[in-house]
Amino acid sequence: MLRLAIQSKGRLNEDTTALLREIGIDIDDSRRKFLAQAPNFPLELLYMRDDDIPQVVASGTAALGIVGLNEVVERGFDVEVVAKLGFGACRISLAVPKSVDYDGPQWFAGKRIATSYPRILRSWLQEQGIEAKIEVITGSVEIAPAADISDAIFDIVSSGGTLVSNGLREVEKVFFSEAVLISNGKLDEAERKTLDEMLFRIDSAMVSRRKKYILMNLPLASVDEATRILPAMRSPTVMPLAAEGWCSMHSVVDEADLWDKIRQLKAIGAEGILVLNIDKIIP
Ligand code: ATP
Ligand code: MG
Repeated sequence: MLRLAIQSKGRLNEDTTALLREIGIDIDDSRRKFLAQAPNFPLELLYMRDDDIPQVVASGTAALGIVGLNEVVERGFDVEVVAKLGFGACRISLAVPKSVDYDGPQWFAGKRIATSYPRILRSWLQEQGIEAKIEVITGSVEIAPAADISDAIFDIVSSGGTLVSNGLREVEKVFFSEAVLISNGKLDEAERKTLDEMLFRIDSAMVSRRKKYILMNLPLASVDEATRILPAMRSPTVMPLAAEGWCSMHSVVDEADLWDKIRQLKAIGAEGILVLNIDKIIP
């Protein structure tokens, strides 16, 4: 049975279980156990602390895991990233006390830097040709400068609010992370098929997340131009309206381009534009 290690509680847990549900894998959260079988998919879930996930995957206790790329790289175990999952985005940055006159990476030469990510920091320092002292701390890294444990910190940032409230300033964004699906590559044929099915569904869930369904009433004279604005998967759907000289056009657009497209469509006479969420896209 294919086993997937996921975070039992914490920042990744909710989005992980939401993704599994989105791709049609039921999970029973109410009576959460250490190990649970999905009732409708050949997958067993192993709940654990995120720190341990790269190791249990590398050792073969679970063939798959969902964890932050930061933990994967920091732990350094031999696992393969099979998909990026688009949630749990954060970065690991160097931050210095606000009062410091920071003038570039060389400032860190000879300084003490507190972090829970020594491996990632060491490799960045090496790339930059800088020698600094790494103080490994597992708890609240952001208080290290105030406690005179270090001169700077290297820590996870998502909004930056924690840094500011500790009198620190982000000066180098070093590592960008998101949740990833990892594998140890040791899957038998049936397990490989299950993984392929999961990847296919994850792909479709991620594509549909960034797309919107758009429909509108359009003067027939504008159909060619609207087709250029809205390429769609093959081409937009055009349906007749009872009103002479008008049609209804349907298409799919990238969320990033949505407002730009709407502006262009309005300029060629589109009316009654509706934008809808898409549940699944199977290309
Ligand atoms: P666990 O008890 O499982 O060890 P944890 O306290 O180590 O949990 P969380 O704080 O739940 O870990 O974070 C899990 C992951 O979420 C991080 O490794 C990182 O990939 C991601 N993440 C996203 N945003 C943030 C953030 N602002 N702070 C910390 N982690 C974040
Ligand atoms: Mg942890």
